[in-house]
Amino acid sequence: MRFDIMTLFPELVDRVLGESIIGRAQKSGAIEVNTYNIRDYSEGVHRRVDDTPYGGGMGMLMAAPPIYNCYRAVLERQIADGFDGRRRVIYLSPTGKILDQKKAEELASSFDNLILLCGHYEGVDRRIVDEIVDEEISVGDYVLTGGEIPACILVDCVARLADGVLSAAECHENESISSGLLEYPQYTRPVEFHGARVPDVLLSGDHKKIDAWRREAALELTARLRPDLLPREDGSDGEENKKK
Ligand code: SAM
Repeated sequence: MRFDIMTLFPELVDRVLGESIIGRAQKSGAIEVNTYNIRDYSEGVHRRVDDTPYGGGMGMLMAAPPIYNCYRAVLERQIADGFDGRRRVIYLSPTGKILDQKKAEELASSFDNLILLCGHYEGVDRRIVDEIVDEEISVGDYVLTGGEIPACILVDCVARLADGVLSAAECHENESISSGLLEYPQYTRPVEFHGARVPDVLLSGDHKKIDAWRREAALELTARLRPDLLPREDGSDGEENKKK
């Protein structure tokens, strides 16, 4: 999976995605992450990337031309690399559809390349969204100062589904949400911590009983914290009530 990220702050993105599992996945070649500084594609001597909004209003807006030039550079680099995979252009935006595990799985299985546009200031000129963007994605109903952290979140959750990113020990099949339920509680050494003991069943070595306990604990936790995830009695999954 290849990620091309257009941003005014490439160092921020490189730093976050260069660490830990995603950093290792880049080094092993399981995924590729390229960042592009939109400012490098601004044409004026002052390398301006923003301007005041027409019609007035607070703040500055990222202008369309540097973003467009940056996007062309991404495509040219892909051609130079001999890359011709299935691509999707995504603008990280609070106006987008909210990211969830289902969307991450859909992106991981349907595309070989995500080109991500990170906004800043008051956002971007609408015309660039209309021209180059396939889809807008939000990381939640709150407003951040820029699209860099949302882009890192999107890359992290999509990349960990790509082949060769997680080791068997880090496998995601039983994890919260992926499995359809919240994950059961987990424990490691010591057996007793501040008076609280690991449940006896987990020390029993009886794997049938452990599986049954985990299933029951996952159902109980989900019913308590995220009842919306449980299948409903009429067989529907409640999707129609979630934000589209
Ligand atoms: N004026 C915009 C609005 O009201 O929709 C908000 C702009 S926000 C301050 C600046 C940039 O941060 C956006 O262009 C977007 O890229 C990013 N951003 C902020 N909140 C986000 C969220 N919840 N999800 C994804 N991106 C977000």
